[in-house]
Amino acid sequence: MPRILIIEDEPKVAESLQLGLREVEFDVEWAASGEEGLTCLLENQPDVVVLDLNLPGRDGLEILSTLRKHHENLPVLILSARDAIDDRVTGLERGADDYMIKPFAFPELVARLKVMLRRESNNNVLAFELADLSIDIISREVKRGDKGISLTPREFEILELLFRNLKRPVSRKTIARDVWKVERATPLDNVIDVHVMRLRKKIDDEYDVKLIQTIRGLGFMLSNEEQD
Ligand code: CA
Repeated sequence: MPRILIIEDEPKVAESLQLGLREVEFDVEWAASGEEGLTCLLENQPDVVVLDLNLPGRDGLEILSTLRKHHENLPVLILSARDAIDDRVTGLERGADDYMIKPFAFPELVARLKVMLRRESNNNVLAFELADLSIDIISREVKRGDKGISLTPREFEILELLFRNLKRPVSRKTIARDVWKVERATPLDNVIDVHVMRLRKKIDDEYDVKLIQTIRGLGFMLSNEEQD
């Protein structure tokens, strides 16, 4: 049973989350403040965290930064009434894996938590597929249908990163960190865009179904579903 930690100061919200998540077989723990949440993290090692932003004491974004120092890969979903695009971007840049706005639809929350958990168990996967696109991490073979596609090492690494975060936006900052191995240097943004453009040309140009999506203000995403 996946273990989930809810960091949320509003008792009513926390209670309904606990009830609903237990029903779909999560092992749920609740912390009413960020500090309490950090203690729970050490003691109970949850598989996934749901984090509110407006918390008493240190707010959710500060808690997220502290959490990331010790739990680099722990999936975190921010659940907040703050719906400004800045808050979303800041949340994702500080290392949240997903972001949902209150009020929210419970089934959607459960679906997103499951995706995050699946992704986490994906870290050792060595081959990926989406629609007719496939990549093999060992042989570095990339194909659409039966047609082989030749990528540069950087292009391949970007594509692998997008696959490991399937259907989730990947920020330029994350690409800079994971592919170029540098903390964000803004001038790199243009370089990243050029690489993504070339990758897109090879992966998508000749095909009706476009797989590399640009998510305005957030970054890029690999998906076969049309974005708004
Ligand atoms: Ca709150």
